[in-house]
Amino acid sequence: MITIDEERFKEVFGQIFSAYKARSHGFADTHADNLGPQRIYYPKCVKVGNRDHLYWLTLVALSDRRTNSTMLYRNFARMFNRNKKLFIQGYYPSHRKMERLFRTYKIAVPVGDIALFLEKKRHLDELFNGDPFAIYNGVGNIDDLLIKARRIAKLRGIDLPFPGAKEKIFTLLAMFLSELTDLQFDDLIPIDVWVQSIATSTGVLKGEGIIKFRVLERLLRPNMRKLFSGFKDVPGAANATWILGKSMCTHCAGRDMKDICPIYDMCKGPFRRHRTPESDKHSGYIEVPSDFIPKGSNPY
Ligand code: SF4
Repeated sequence: MITIDEERFKEVFGQIFSAYKARSHGFADTHADNLGPQRIYYPKCVKVGNRDHLYWLTLVALSDRRTNSTMLYRNFARMFNRNKKLFIQGYYPSHRKMERLFRTYKIAVPVGDIALFLEKKRHLDELFNGDPFAIYNGVGNIDDLLIKARRIAKLRGIDLPFPGAKEKIFTLLAMFLSELTDLQFDDLIPIDVWVQSIATSTGVLKGEGIIKFRVLERLLRPNMRKLFSGFKDVPGAANATWILGKSMCTHCAGRDMKDICPIYDMCKGPFRRHRTPESDKHSGYIEVPSDFIPKGSNPY
């Protein structure tokens, strides 16, 4: 059975947020302002924080699978900038036109996602009056928000207000909105692959066996919510775990990260995710104890 060592969680993730706050280690050069795609890219025609910006940001975040966010935000920004009708509440181009736009602006999503994009836009407009804030009205955390989403879906006779968007996406969107507005929400850090990997490689996960990502997400979230409440006022801090993963962990096997990683001494090394077909048995699960690539083992 796998459980969470709450003290270890506080120690590890507290150290990450403290380093971000102090702009120490790798965070001295890399922080949300120069790495977060949501901050770097936005349509040139909007004013940061205005209605069109928030509307655009919501539609991109709802389409974000965090696989190649940089391209997604950059290309969505270009598409909206040159097709301003997309900002209009109630404007829904035909599927064929939307498909052409996605192709022109190199937004590589599965064909089904184009219909989903239009559905999400329609639901944002019709269920929330085109106002991302209304999604979070009256709810304080992700559990409440999911209850609200299910209630709306039932009332309207639809599957979900934003098909495909789950806890991680709503948390991500809350993070973005909280950076631009006074949105008050308790869950601002998506429990993404980086949080899960760091929890595994630092011994936050105890015991042994396999655990589903989604179960792990539910176990880690209350700890993250509690810990991060002490860092909410630090601008950009909600991006810290993602920045650590993206700009440090991805290089850790090939480079000496001793002076760069704020939790170097606490971590066993980059988490080896099983992506090959023969390891399908690991799909959607984390196995503990896990497989790690030794730090700096592969210099080139
Ligand atoms: S030691 Fe390496 S793998 Fe571990 S958290 Fe730091 S950068 Fe990431």
